[in-house]
Amino acid sequence: MPELPEVQTIVNGLNQTICHQTIQKIDVFNKKTLDSQEAKSLLNKTIHSIIRKGKYIILGLEDCDLVIHLRMTGQFFYFPYTHNYELGPYDRVAFSLSEGLLIFRDVRRFGTMKLCLSHKELLKKLGIDPLSSAFTSDYLINLFSHSKTGIKSFLLAQDKIAGLGNIYVDEALFLSRIHPESRVSNIAVESIRGLQEAIVVVLQKGLEAKGTSIGNGLGNYQHVNGRGKNQQTLLVYGRSKQDCIVCNTDLVKTKIAGRGTTFCSSCQILY
Ligand SMILES: [Zn+2]
Repeated sequence: MPELPEVQTIVNGLNQTICHQTIQKIDVFNKKTLDSQEAKSLLNKTIHSIIRKGKYIILGLEDCDLVIHLRMTGQFFYFPYTHNYELGPYDRVAFSLSEGLLIFRDVRRFGTMKLCLSHKELLKKLGIDPLSSAFTSDYLINLFSHSKTGIKSFLLAQDKIAGLGNIYVDEALFLSRIHPESRVSNIAVESIRGLQEAIVVVLQKGLEAKGTSIGNGLGNYQHVNGRGKNQQTLLVYGRSKQDCIVCNTDLVKTKIAGRGTTFCSSCQILY
């Protein structure tokens, strides 16, 4: 599932291609993705801005917002009209813009697009953005002091920190040497400081690599112009049974908070 670096990379690509274009026609091939009445009210509106909130993409139109969540396999592709594009079986929505075609492809069909007057009301429960300047170690220490839950589910819950998913949580916990089964309230203050830094480091590294593209399946993450490169330098995610880069112990994969979790049982401390 696309996480903050993947969604931000897609937003950057959309800003370079579709910003300031007008929606002239919309074809919806899957009613669950976008309501046909809502699609009608998007006609003739100009896209003024494209931003990210957590894992959401928000198209700012003249007097409303289109709030998009890619879920498991949502992808955007853009083709200028000079390029002849033939629709594929997993294309769920096609936006005919003033200068080109924007395709929303979604193999698993969990992606959603919702029209609203402002995204602020719809997304008011989202937690802090970990790449914002307000995400400091003191902020995280304070956030942790109110919670007795496990660290993995805490970091995945979008109402506390918005944008993290399985890949970047596993990477940040490894980098800060925190065992993924630790209780939030037990974690030492110095380790929370380390975790705050690690979260920013893994997200920025992911963003610089234009995201993590694992596997060659049609639904696997791609940005508007191709695949990401972060999968080439992951430390633990997808590396179970391989050597830990620090101590050479075999990395372990288990299920924590309902999600496959890879970690080093030797380097990462259980609090
Ligand atoms: Zn290790």
